[in-house]
Amino acid sequence: MKKYKGKCSCGNVEYCFEGEPINSAFCYCKECQTHTGSDKWFGLWVPVDKFKFTKGTPSNFTRLGDSGKDMNHQFCGDCGATLCVEVTVGNFYSVAASTLDNNDEFSPQMAIYTSSAPKWAVFPADIPKYEILPPGLGD
Ligand SMILES: [Zn+2]
Ligand SMILES: [Zn+2]
Repeated sequence: MKKYKGKCSCGNVEYCFEGEPINSAFCYCKECQTHTGSDKWFGLWVPVDKFKFTKGTPSNFTRLGDSGKDMNHQFCGDCGATLCVEVTVGNFYSVAASTLDNNDEFSPQMAIYTSSAPKWAVFPADIPKYEILPPGLGD
């Protein structure tokens, strides 16, 4: 099975995951804007049992998602980079594609929460866009 590795800015926290993500999405929700300092988060959705931290221990920040279930942000306590968010309602990690060692390996398959995007957001032309989530996801 293919293995992917990534790390934070300072290198104190590293992770890996195995196999292909179940989804890859640009998320334009307000929380993603806040923690990326950008118009979107590029998340690779990796089942919890396929993902592990291999170096260091991340700090945590937990907030409630739209689902009412916890979103556990995992970030480096030294450099502050967010590596992934555990989406407990779906039992997966949304891994920050930007933190992969080789982040050319994936492209977004959809754009979600576009109704929360700022006016200056940039959307890829060739993928489906959803104001919140695609039907059947996140209910
Ligand atoms: Zn770091
Ligand atoms: Zn988001």
